[in-house]
Amino acid sequence: MGEIGGFLKYCRKDPEYRKVEDRLKDFDPVEMRQFDSEIHIQAARCMDCGTPFCHGCGCPLATVIPELTDLVFHDRWQEALDVLISTNNFPEFTARICPALCEASCVLGINDDPATIRQVELAIIRRGFVDGYLQPRPPVIRYDEKIAVIGSGPAGLSVADSLNRTGYCVTVYDKSKNPGGILRYGIPDFKLGKRIVDRRIKLMRDEGVMFELGITVGDDVSYNYLKNRFDAVCLSGGSREPRDISVPGRKLKGIYFAMDYLVQQNKRLEGERIEKEDEITAEGKTVVIIGGGDTGSDCLGTALRQRANKVYQFEIMPKPPEERPENTPWPMWPNVIRESSSHKEGGERRWCVATKEFTGENGKVKSIRCVEVEWSHGHDGRMEFKEKPGTDFDMDVQLVLLSMGFVGPGRNRIVEDLHIEHDSKGNIKVNENHMTSVDGIFAAGDMAQGQSLVVRAIADGRMTASGIVQYLEKKRGKNVNGNKQ
Ligand SMILES: Cc1cc2nc3c(=O)[nH]c(=O)nc-3n(C[C@H](O)[C@H](O)[C@H](O)COP(=O)(O)OP(=O)(O)OC[C@H]3O[C@@H](n4cnc5c(N)ncnc54)[C@H](O)[C@@H]3O)c2cc1C
Repeated sequence: MGEIGGFLKYCRKDPEYRKVEDRLKDFDPVEMRQFDSEIHIQAARCMDCGTPFCHGCGCPLATVIPELTDLVFHDRWQEALDVLISTNNFPEFTARICPALCEASCVLGINDDPATIRQVELAIIRRGFVDGYLQPRPPVIRYDEKIAVIGSGPAGLSVADSLNRTGYCVTVYDKSKNPGGILRYGIPDFKLGKRIVDRRIKLMRDEGVMFELGITVGDDVSYNYLKNRFDAVCLSGGSREPRDISVPGRKLKGIYFAMDYLVQQNKRLEGERIEKEDEITAEGKTVVIIGGGDTGSDCLGTALRQRANKVYQFEIMPKPPEERPENTPWPMWPNVIRESSSHKEGGERRWCVATKEFTGENGKVKSIRCVEVEWSHGHDGRMEFKEKPGTDFDMDVQLVLLSMGFVGPGRNRIVEDLHIEHDSKGNIKVNENHMTSVDGIFAAGDMAQGQSLVVRAIADGRMTASGIVQYLEKKRGKNVNGNKQ
């Protein structure tokens, strides 16, 4: 434990953010760095509570948080780094964009502000890179077996990194020009600068992971091609099929899925070419974002930076409470209202608003008709809504962004051709070793779990890698005994 009674002496201090008027002029990260002296104090707030729910119940990666904070408090940064990376392949991503499930389950959070775990992790990994502790360390031994990982989002990268460190030869395929999945093409730079993704990819390359980019597996290369070259395949193509809205006028120009909009802005910042006729921009427009979640808030921050005239974010569900409600008691992730950095920059949020219709002019969206709704529990106990009479309203709008979540992995030729089974939610079905219904083909991340969080994608990637290792070891054992499959 750091300082006995530190939690009684020191208050939680969150990081500062760049001034709104400055940060709206660019797409640079908005969160500012805390000094190590402050991190030292914050680390002293960890109570060493005895039953660290942050580690066992909050963090999907089971980060060993009490030990980390103790090491930081005692200025033993390199050991803290060793502990951190022993359970997390990419702390530089999670320490920047994780909602910090660990903090929601911190014991100190029962009657005080929880410890600032995410910031402590960020300080550790930042020093790891800046002080040069993190250098390429290719594996000492190399096995003959080769693994193809399809998709370079956090799940695919985690599978690849874990297998490479164990000594397997890994090739990561991605249909995009650059690796990173949603880290690169979905999450805006103001939350995660792409330099952070590039630095990790370089480290992975230097350690021996190979990347084949701009290749859509299934279309550009077949499963037979992979089967002849690799001993196992891992599908980690994400969950990108967006939920659509079925109302009159949906097909009008000016109504787009959130990801089409966010991916384009990220490509623009990377200097990738956008054809004039494909351009989606909020500049000078009134924008309505349908969907009150995180993807919607990323659209809000992006639209404000593109100098939208006015931005609204409509959510059909009721406004969550400020305080932790009874239905999500500690140490669960609380169902409370969240205000992202983008919400602090502008725009107007409204809850209990349903969209009824879009109308247009010359094929382009011109206005949106909405209605307020009220929610109640139906006979089966499930929440249901009904329109509030007389609350219909129309608004002029030039850009609508649909941000209502994702319904599944979408089309994938390999899955179709091999008849790989799906689960009841439409995700790829996997067994306890993360193998799909086809021998030697595994699935990791959102593709198998549904759209979730970066921390869960990394955790799932690690477990999938261990399933692949078990599979290859078993196969190798059989081969040695002359039982070649
Ligand atoms: C806009 C947005 C913002 C988010 N913000 C956060 C956040 O702040 N914090 C957080 O924790 N989580 C966030 N998430 C969720 C998080 O990003 C995802 O849960 C995570 O990226 C899932 O990782 P993945 O590797 O499974 O899939 P993805 O990141 O989606 O990567 C899948 C990759 O597979 C590739 N691919 C697909 N099919 C093929 C194919 N046939 N051939 C070759 N390549 C293929 C794709 O090009 C892509 O690169 C956000 C999600 C979105 C959409």
